[in-house]
Amino acid sequence: MKYEMVIGLEIHAELNTRTKIFCSCSTQFGAEPNTHVCPICLAMPGTLPVLNRQAVEKCVTAGLALGCDIAPEAHMDRKNYFYPDLPKAYQISQLFRPLCTGGTLEFEYEDESGQARIGRVRINRIHLEEDAGKSIHDLYGASTLLDFNRGGVPLIEIVTEPDIRSPEEAGAFVDRLRSILRYAGVSDCQMQEGSLRADINLSIRPAGSDTLGTRTEMKNLNSIRAIVRAAQAEFLRQTEVLEDGGVIVQETRRWDDAKGRSLRMRTKEEANDYRYFPDPDLLPIRVDGDWLRAIRDALPELPGSKRRRYVADYGLPEYDAGILTSDPAISAFFEDAVACGGDAKAVSNFIMGDMMRIVRERELDFAALPFSPADLATLVNRVAEGVVSISVAKGAVLNQMFEAGERPDAVIERMGLRQVSDEDTLRAIARDVIRDNPGVAQEYRDGKTKVLGFLMGQVMKKSRGKAQPAAASQLLKEELEK
Ligand SMILES: [Zn+2]
Repeated sequence: MKYEMVIGLEIHAELNTRTKIFCSCSTQFGAEPNTHVCPICLAMPGTLPVLNRQAVEKCVTAGLALGCDIAPEAHMDRKNYFYPDLPKAYQISQLFRPLCTGGTLEFEYEDESGQARIGRVRINRIHLEEDAGKSIHDLYGASTLLDFNRGGVPLIEIVTEPDIRSPEEAGAFVDRLRSILRYAGVSDCQMQEGSLRADINLSIRPAGSDTLGTRTEMKNLNSIRAIVRAAQAEFLRQTEVLEDGGVIVQETRRWDDAKGRSLRMRTKEEANDYRYFPDPDLLPIRVDGDWLRAIRDALPELPGSKRRRYVADYGLPEYDAGILTSDPAISAFFEDAVACGGDAKAVSNFIMGDMMRIVRERELDFAALPFSPADLATLVNRVAEGVVSISVAKGAVLNQMFEAGERPDAVIERMGLRQVSDEDTLRAIARDVIRDNPGVAQEYRDGKTKVLGFLMGQVMKKSRGKAQPAAASQLLKEELEK
């Protein structure tokens, strides 16, 4: 039998507020354990939470960016469970009246066979909650250490409808969602630091059926690749269970990315196991018209509209526009370089080609490069003016800009990289190349004109990439035909 998979996602994103959701402790990642804590986030008796206004604004911002309805009145609820990293023995979250409901995300993706498709995933809700602390289990399981720095960091949980039908679609959804949350300025979405984590709810059913099967949940996937692989593996696992005549058990599973398989953690609790009830220590959240308008006005341009604008205003291909707008730091660099007078297509080529490669290889950040967008514009213009060749610009000059933050004009002068278009110099080089390669030159004269490419390569090599190609090629031909 042929099965189809049905996936819904729950995405947790840590909000990038400066302080925690109910106290003024810092949210900074990577500090010494238990240094960002206070009586409130350690749940000392007698303490009371005070809701961080910015956390509410960022949750609403995420909702607006995803086309959700914003509730005029929302409540915080207690989700009760015992775990050592949750000192209150309840998490403050939202069940009954979340801040955001509804909404849709549309995105392009490539399916398994590489065909371009449009994904359309409905958002069920976005709610605000606090993160728990972190349990650090030692290697042998003999003891567990607790770090409460993360306890009380504000989170939003984005819950989708079960609209996703393939691992590729799930990966692309999270990728686009991450891009939107970054643009909207609500989360830095560093998956490797755990500030964006995804839970996958997956069930299977006979292809063509419209009933939902029993689902399993895989928690805390922290890379797009892990999401795609975990969904693939879970689909196969459930298919095998059914084909062997078994039944799917509703349970929570832990994905082991290194081993490429999942293990049962526990059978799934239902919402009523958590004995949710409204938190009596917190007032209802009222987002009135003025506040909502102010948040809406502050919403920056999102990647979808930016992409359409890049195609319309700069004449860039869809593909290029998609890559340049995938990350706010990249698009800001691009826009600034164009504003400084760089040709849009040429700037885009530099960024998408060599710059993104170097940034990836050296694990740099577009927001903190050693040179400015204005420097890139200068470099692009020097190529257009014929001062340097494109290969020298992308090679030696760009390298030096990355290496030392040196201005492009300074690199060109100091290293003597100006393109040579002077006829006498180029003619002399062409003659040298012909003299050094008499056999190849003869082949050219005998009509095998495609060896010109090899000879031009020699000219470029001899000029250390500085020969102006069109002029050099013309002179080379003249010399060969003498
Ligand atoms: Zn605190």
